[in-house]
Amino acid sequence: MNTIVTKFGGSSLADAEQFRKVKNIIISNNARKYVIPSAPGKRTSKDSKITDLLYLCYAHINTGISLDDVFDHIKNRYIDIVTDLKLNLDIRPYLDTIKRDLENGASSDYAASRGEYLNAIILSNYLGFEFIDAKDVIIFNNDSCLNYDETLKLLKEKLSSFDRVVIPGFYGSDKDGNIITFSRGGSDVTGALVTASLNADLYENWTDVSGFLMADPRIISNPKPISTITYTELRELSYMGASVLHEEAIFPVRNAGIPINIRNTNRPKDKGTFIIKDPLNDDSQTITGIAGKKNFTVISITKALMNSELGFCRKILSILEQHNISFENMPSGIDTVCLVISDSQLKNKTSLIVEEIKRTCNPDTIEVHPNMALIATVGKGMAKQKGVASKIFTALSEADVNIRMIDQGSSEINILVGIENNNFEKAITAIYNSFN
Ligand code: ADP
Ligand code: ASP
Ligand code: MG
Repeated sequence: MNTIVTKFGGSSLADAEQFRKVKNIIISNNARKYVIPSAPGKRTSKDSKITDLLYLCYAHINTGISLDDVFDHIKNRYIDIVTDLKLNLDIRPYLDTIKRDLENGASSDYAASRGEYLNAIILSNYLGFEFIDAKDVIIFNNDSCLNYDETLKLLKEKLSSFDRVVIPGFYGSDKDGNIITFSRGGSDVTGALVTASLNADLYENWTDVSGFLMADPRIISNPKPISTITYTELRELSYMGASVLHEEAIFPVRNAGIPINIRNTNRPKDKGTFIIKDPLNDDSQTITGIAGKKNFTVISITKALMNSELGFCRKILSILEQHNISFENMPSGIDTVCLVISDSQLKNKTSLIVEEIKRTCNPDTIEVHPNMALIATVGKGMAKQKGVASKIFTALSEADVNIRMIDQGSSEINILVGIENNNFEKAITAIYNSFN
């Protein structure tokens, strides 16, 4: 293998000890030439992520609270890393500039991005690799959407002049030079873009678990590891909350057909999970994984002969569009349709939306079910096997979980159920146990 792009998550670079592990991983394989660090994450479960503290600094400034205490905390974490690693690098002037920028009204994205910026400066010094600032190679349009073509072009140009490079994850800049971040967890996306631009052989994503597990380890203790998974399955699982990899990190590498390997910085000998394009011919596993998200509202609408009423769904969707609300899912039957909307989208506009639907669409009934969770059971094996859905429903009914909504995506690799938030953990456990 000639070129491997490596991305290290926050916990992998949370302190000097973790930096040492990262260096050992990189020097153990000559092909690991391009490195994308996140900001320092939590050292223990009660610790804070630097990114969260930076957002807090921004909030303090905007509410007139002094940022001295929080900023000192951030400063000490970086100084501790540099001192412990005995680097010939004075990080203080960088920190002073950032503090000044924050006090002078820098944006929230600028604040958040500095965690990765500083970590990349430290890591490039520690590894002896070139530092390339993400603001010069990751480009956003003025609507804050990534300019994919421009980014790939710039990355290709800049990276071709260096053999070994560190690029901070999570952010870039727009045409006016303003710093723009991806959504949370976005260093994964930076890593994927670098991988695609180089047409690298492999994208290694180093984190604190030995790959993708069949379910969230915070809910199921010791879930089975997944040795290989397709991009499509992973996309479904990451989108539904399996947070190991940012859902948008899949597209750049999938387009180029480059595999991703999720690895554990704390157990570098473990092989982790390979994310690949084509399914292996392995029928042993019916389902690949289970993931879910809480806090949705389901608006359930019935109307006799809905199926033959032209434009019924369009009217509903245009109401959502007028209120700038995107929906998650829209399962429908002959005379029924459900809107599944995340509460973060709905922002207390439920009654308004319901009233407008009543007025515009004249439904027979309209019911609102708040506090819902969605659980996706995903697996390429599902399309070929009978009885998967009934196994899921039986497991849920035996666990006394009421199913409020069912949707089998058109891809036949995902069965989605809507349940109440307070049954979330119980439902994931029941489904997991029924397949293991
Ligand atoms: P990083 O900071 O390295 O990017 P993340 O916190 O983004 O790491 O992702 C790793 C975490 O994802 C794990 O620590 C684990 O708690 C969580 N997680 C959720 N679902 C899964 C799953 N199905 N398999 C493995 N980890 C999962
Ligand atoms: N540090 C950023 C976050 O906490 C980005 C990342 O970790 O990928 O969201
Ligand atoms: Mg992450």
